[in-house]
Amino acid sequence: MGGEKRNEKHNLNQPRFIRRREEIMGLIIDNIANDLEDLGGHLECTVCHLEQPIGNIGVNLSTGWPKHCGYTMTWVTASQEALRSKT
Ligand SMILES: [Zn+2]
Repeated sequence: MGGEKRNEKHNLNQPRFIRRREEIMGLIIDNIANDLEDLGGHLECTVCHLEQPIGNIGVNLSTGWPKHCGYTMTWVTASQEALRSKT
């Protein structure tokens, strides 16, 4: 094991390496999503102003942020909502 670093034809470990890389990416995304969930708030369409819940942030991060009217929706955080309600 590990003694044939230069033998590129010997790539039997590649699928496991790729699986591991995807696991690590998943953990990183989950970690970021957990931190971001604390921001709260909702999503808003910049064109028609439709509002919707943020949904699963981890899924949004890994598959693409939700769109509406052809554009990426804006995240209005709970603190931004609070600022809006003051005006
Ligand atoms: Zn819209």
